[in-house]
Amino acid sequence: MARLVLKFGGTSVATVERIRNVARHVEREVKAGHQVAVVVSAMSGTTNQLVTWVKEASEFYDPREYDAVVASGEQVTSGLLAIVLHSIGIKARSWQGWQIPLNTDDSHGAASIADFNGERLIAGMESGEVAVIAGFQGVASNERIATLGRGGSDTSAVAIAAAVKADRCDIYTDVDGVYTTDPRVVTKAQRIERIAYEEMLEMASLGAKVLQVRSVEMAMVHRVPVYVRSSFDAPDASNWNGTLVCDEEEIMESQVVTGIAFSKDEAKITLVQVADKPGVAAKVFGPLADASINVDMIVQNVSSDGKTTDMTFTVPAAEFARAMDVLTKAKGEIGYGELRGDKDVVKVSCIGVGMRTHAGVAVKMFRALAERGINIQAITTSEIKISILIEAAYTELAVRALHTLYDLDKA
Ligand code: ADP
Ligand code: ASP
Ligand code: MG
Repeated sequence: MARLVLKFGGTSVATVERIRNVARHVEREVKAGHQVAVVVSAMSGTTNQLVTWVKEASEFYDPREYDAVVASGEQVTSGLLAIVLHSIGIKARSWQGWQIPLNTDDSHGAASIADFNGERLIAGMESGEVAVIAGFQGVASNERIATLGRGGSDTSAVAIAAAVKADRCDIYTDVDGVYTTDPRVVTKAQRIERIAYEEMLEMASLGAKVLQVRSVEMAMVHRVPVYVRSSFDAPDASNWNGTLVCDEEEIMESQVVTGIAFSKDEAKITLVQVADKPGVAAKVFGPLADASINVDMIVQNVSSDGKTTDMTFTVPAAEFARAMDVLTKAKGEIGYGELRGDKDVVKVSCIGVGMRTHAGVAVKMFRALAERGINIQAITTSEIKISILIEAAYTELAVRALHTLYDLDKA
C-alpha cells in the first residue's frame, strides 16, 4: 500500500464527463489499496474568466478580493469530484485550502506556501476517505484566501505530497509527459522518460509551462518523485507512458541537451550612450530593483570612444511599461542618450545536465542560428543552460532547428 497524491489540471476536469473519467483513475488507485489525495484545478477556461471579471470590476482591485474570486474555480471542481466519487461508491470529501489549513504568506495573487501540517489530511486518508483538495489556494496569515499564481495547482499537489509524506505525486495533464520541447509547437518533440529536478526547474522557469516552477522547486527540496502523465489514458490501462522527475543519479543515459524551452514573456530594453565608468550599472539597476522589477539578461557593449556605451537587458514583459517609466524618471540620475524598448522578442533556451561535461554546445547553437540568418540579441548561460534572445518571428524556426541540431527529433 502506498500513499499517493494525484493532481488533475484544467483540461482534465473541463466537463462533468471528464470529471467522471478522473474519478475512474482515482477508483483504480483506491481499489489497488492505496491511500489517495486528489488535487484539482478549475475547469479549463474558468480561472481566465474569473480574472477577466475582476479586471472588469475595477482596474484598481484589492488583491485579497482578487484571490477570493479566482480561488472559487477550484472549489467547484473539488465538490464536483467528491460528488462523482460518491456516486461510484467511493468515500471522499472536498477540502478547501483554509480547511487543511494550507498556510501561505500574504503575497496575494502569487502567494508562497509556508510550512503546514498534513495531519488532518492524513487522518482522513487513513480512515479510508479520499481527500479531494482544491488546488491553487491556501490561507494567508491574515486569514484571507490566497492563491499561488497561475498554474499553482501543481505546487499545491507537490506541497501536499510532501506534507502527507506521499510515496509519489502524479500530475495528470493533457500530454503524456514532459517533452523535449512544447509538443504543440514541434510535432517531432519526444517524451522524456526521466528528467532531473534541476533540468525540469530550468525547463519550467524558461518557459515550459507543463509544471509550475515552484512545484519543481518544492519537489527538489523535499525529494518528492513526480510523474507527469495523461489523464486521457484509459483509467484501466495496465501500461501507460509518462515522465518521472527525479534525482540526477536515477537517470542512466542522458543527452547533452535534454530539452528546449522558449518564452515570450520577456521584453528588451536598451539604454543608448550611458557613461562607460564604474557605478553606472548600479545606477541603472538600482531603481529597477527598488521597483521590484527583475532584470534577466544583460549585455553591455564595449565603448568605441572610451566614454559611452550601450546597455541592453531584459525584464518580464508584464513589467515592461513600469520599467520604461522607472528608467525615464531616472534619466537625470543615470544619464543616457536614448531609451529603446522592444517587446517583439523571445528567449530560447537549451537545457541539459550533460552540458557540465561537454564543451562546444553554445558554439554549435550560435552557428546553427547564424546559418538561418537569425540574429542573437543577448545571451546568458549557466552550468546547465544557454539562453538566447531573438526576434519573436523566428521562434518556431529557431526551436525546430535546435531540436534537430541536438538530436532530439523523434525518429
Ligand atoms: P494543466 O491544465 O493540466 O495544468 P498545462 O496547460 O498547464 O496543463 O500544461 C500542459 C501543457 O504544457 C501542454 O499541453 C503543452 O502544450 C505545454 N508544454 C510546454 N512545454 C512542454 C514540454 N516541454 N513538455 C510537455 N508539455 C509542454
Ligand atoms: N486554475 C489555476 C490557473 O488556471 C491554477 C491551475 O490550474 O494550476 O492558473
Ligand atoms: Mg498547469
